[in-house]
Amino acid sequence: MAENGLIENGETDRASPAVLPSPAKNLPRIYSKIFINNEWHQSVSGKTFAIFNPASGERICDVEEGDKPDVDKAVEAARTAFGHGSPWRTLDTSARGRLLCKWADLIERDRHILATLETMDTGKPFLQSFAIDLEGCIRTLRYYAGWADKIHGKSIPVDDDFVMFTRHEPIGVCGQITPWNFPLLMFIWKVAPALCCGNTVVIKPAEQAPLTALYMGALIKEVPFPPGVVNIVPGYGPTAGAAIACHKDVDKVAFTGSTEVGRSITEAASNSNLKRVTLELGGKNPCIVFADSDLALAVECASQGAFFNQGQCCTAAARIFVEEPIYEEFVRRSVERLKARVVGNPFDPKTDQGPQIDQDQFDKILELIESGKKEGARLECGGRAIGDVGHYIQPTVFSEATDNMRIAREEIFGPVQVIMKFKSTEEVIRRANSSEFGLTAGVFTRNIDRALTVASALQSGTVWVNCYNALHAQAPFGGFKMSGNGREMGEYGLREYTEVKTITIKISRNNH
Ligand code: ADP
Repeated sequence: MAENGLIENGETDRASPAVLPSPAKNLPRIYSKIFINNEWHQSVSGKTFAIFNPASGERICDVEEGDKPDVDKAVEAARTAFGHGSPWRTLDTSARGRLLCKWADLIERDRHILATLETMDTGKPFLQSFAIDLEGCIRTLRYYAGWADKIHGKSIPVDDDFVMFTRHEPIGVCGQITPWNFPLLMFIWKVAPALCCGNTVVIKPAEQAPLTALYMGALIKEVPFPPGVVNIVPGYGPTAGAAIACHKDVDKVAFTGSTEVGRSITEAASNSNLKRVTLELGGKNPCIVFADSDLALAVECASQGAFFNQGQCCTAAARIFVEEPIYEEFVRRSVERLKARVVGNPFDPKTDQGPQIDQDQFDKILELIESGKKEGARLECGGRAIGDVGHYIQPTVFSEATDNMRIAREEIFGPVQVIMKFKSTEEVIRRANSSEFGLTAGVFTRNIDRALTVASALQSGTVWVNCYNALHAQAPFGGFKMSGNGREMGEYGLREYTEVKTITIKISRNNH
């Protein structure tokens, strides 16, 4: 398991501690209101929207539906909290780090509750929520807690008439918009670096799965962060999300989601106040398996890369390129591997794969599977929905796919593995790079020279060699080309939440 709990080296995504963690029996409270100034609010419009459990289709609760007036209130609170001389702005940076650590401790205390809530809200297997998503949240917060008092500027030599230095200052009010596939982890990926640098935040979780984000409101208050430092506005994208993106008093917007919406966020940012924009968007990630690789490892990682989180990952291993001599054996083993994959109730500890998030995604995935069949790819297994309760889809493998098929070009965001054949290194580099996306890539080979040659030739923000989905809080993550703009995580992530100020002091020669 990687440092943040994500998979590497072919380990299964099933957690395997001596005693398996179990879901919380009673959820103490489900938070469903808008969180502003450390208080819970109803929406200005009085509207709410329903939240469903994707495994059962049952309604969990109704959540207040934030819109522009609620975003305005939240931005005002965040602006006041950021004001010159405010408790947050005058807080010692080490104390800021301690608040982030305390927040991590509270998440750890409530880990069973949060993992239960995340699974109810998204359908992802409980053991994954517990061992991977929650672990990632805790590690990310502790990592950024350590940075809070180490964000230094530089002293810059010019000539003897000047003293010059830089300060790395917080940007101000940060608007943040998160997706539904890792609702809590993405919340922490956004908020932790922003607070570490001293910003304030207005965040909108995805409408499909906002419950763990709202639970964070209670913990933010308990830590306590000063009122207005973190404000959480649930609601829909075109209303609450768009209100953040075009708000004139928001200084920066950070977004994770689709490329299409990323484009509209960039437009809204430039048409309003040219706020800074960071985007983490889609991917159609190549995973290249050379004939000299450790085949068992490559099959396992490629399978996990494709099917982890029901295939709902921007990092998904979406185009598996396998060198000709091992192609058939690789396909055979990949299909064989799926026989052990358990699809079902996400609270059952044996389950590897739960339902897709909602009807829209379910329909889109099945439509893409049909396109693969029609365009002539060979369906090796799966390809259908399962049952009529919950949005379950069989793990699906296509072989003999070609680069121009829709399943090889479009992001499927579902449990579908597309396996293609290649003959030479030059050919596979060209084909891997012929995509408008460039988020992640995998390379499997025992030849270090080949691994490094291919890794440097690939146009993607991350390249994993002999591992997959090995994400760490310490390492930057983000995309080349249309996969995004800017980096999250690691030291590089801090650059996206600071402005550099140059202070130049003229030394007077007359005073002595
Ligand atoms: P997906 O298609 O995977 O649901 P989206 O990009 O639509 O991904 O959603 C990601 C996040 O962006 C969600 O929080 C969603 O509410 C938000 N969103 C959707 N449309 C807009 C928009 N026009 N402006 C701002 N945010 C949006």
